[in-house]
Amino acid sequence: MGLERSWVAGANVAETDFPLNNLPCGVFSTSGDEPRCGVAIGEMILDVAGLEAAGILKVAEDPVLDVPFWNDFMDLGQGAWSGFRAALAELLREGSDHRAQVEPFLIRQQEARLHLPFLVSEFTDFYASRHHAFNVGTMFRGPENALPPNWLHIPIGYNGRASSVVVSGTEVRRPWGQIRPPGAEAPVFAPSRRFDIELEMGAVVGQASRQGYPVTVAEADAMIFGYVLLNDWSARDIQAWEYQPLGPFQSKATATTISPWIVMRAALEQFRVATPARERPLLPYLHEPGPMLYDIALEVGLTPAGGRETVIARTNYREMYYSAAQQLAHHTSSGCAMNVGDLLGSGTISGPAKDSRGSLLELSWGGKEPLAVEGGTRTFIEDGDRLTLRGHAQGKGYRIGFGPCAGTILPALADPWQREL
Ligand code: CA
Repeated sequence: MGLERSWVAGANVAETDFPLNNLPCGVFSTSGDEPRCGVAIGEMILDVAGLEAAGILKVAEDPVLDVPFWNDFMDLGQGAWSGFRAALAELLREGSDHRAQVEPFLIRQQEARLHLPFLVSEFTDFYASRHHAFNVGTMFRGPENALPPNWLHIPIGYNGRASSVVVSGTEVRRPWGQIRPPGAEAPVFAPSRRFDIELEMGAVVGQASRQGYPVTVAEADAMIFGYVLLNDWSARDIQAWEYQPLGPFQSKATATTISPWIVMRAALEQFRVATPARERPLLPYLHEPGPMLYDIALEVGLTPAGGRETVIARTNYREMYYSAAQQLAHHTSSGCAMNVGDLLGSGTISGPAKDSRGSLLELSWGGKEPLAVEGGTRTFIEDGDRLTLRGHAQGKGYRIGFGPCAGTILPALADPWQREL
């Protein structure tokens, strides 16, 4: 399938993230009005809450799009998701009879402010890229112990904090924390000096599962509403001291930035790819009935304050060892209930090449090999740096993009307990 042509400005351009094929879900506001659901198309946002209120678009008995989150819509299920896409395709396609009716509900993206697209119920983060796990394991424990014995059998994860999830554009302040300086016996409490990114994809759960009932990988795949880009900001010096034996805690709790548009699973269907060959057989409950990863090209740009951007990493979501569907199925294997709005971080996505590593920890090899960036070098993030994740699936003559996932680092507070008067 090629580009689906639309009458909306900018929607038929090969480089746009948002052709008619995409129709990703976001929450927007303009000055003087309330945040509500919108869909990105070309250079514009379609005010689907407005269309629903005007009776041009009917999603359910009662309105579900006049709120600053997509959770209620997601809860309606697959039938509503498909019907919504079909209805929008009819309104927006080139030659549509509805153009005059719909045109007043388009807002220029430049004039809108974007918000978190959904209420994050809970946030779970995984550790599922073979290359990332090997690189980090080598630095923390040595190459012979790099992959823990469980890694090739189980999608390793931890329960993060939903409250830490912020939308692209939100500034992130360098955290303080417990850090043990090299060679010291006792820790100090200080601003992190090894603050880092983690290039990830986030899967958004759109259907709940019942407590006590694990789901299959196929059922898990069908529960996923869509995907976002995700940057799991990580304080490596805090992490190295705190992570044993229960895993990361404060090192990952400062912020997690997601891109503002949820790209629905339906928009990615034709970009499905299989997970790589298994190095050890998986237990049957983790077997995939079909390809469940996606061919999504990813990159990270670093822009120093007042400077120009350098792309520091390029990789692909297909590098993961475990898919989001496998992770979600595993998450329910204990009987754990999943809810609408749960967010699953894929884990850092690193490829085999040096410039395909999804964190500065790996790119600078623990700070030992500084990277060249515009106007200097970097081992970890410096104050004022802006980090931008981008991603898209490439079709013939069009792409399915996510919009940027960006954040700028503010200096640590001089005194974290001092309250502003
Ligand atoms: Ca992570």
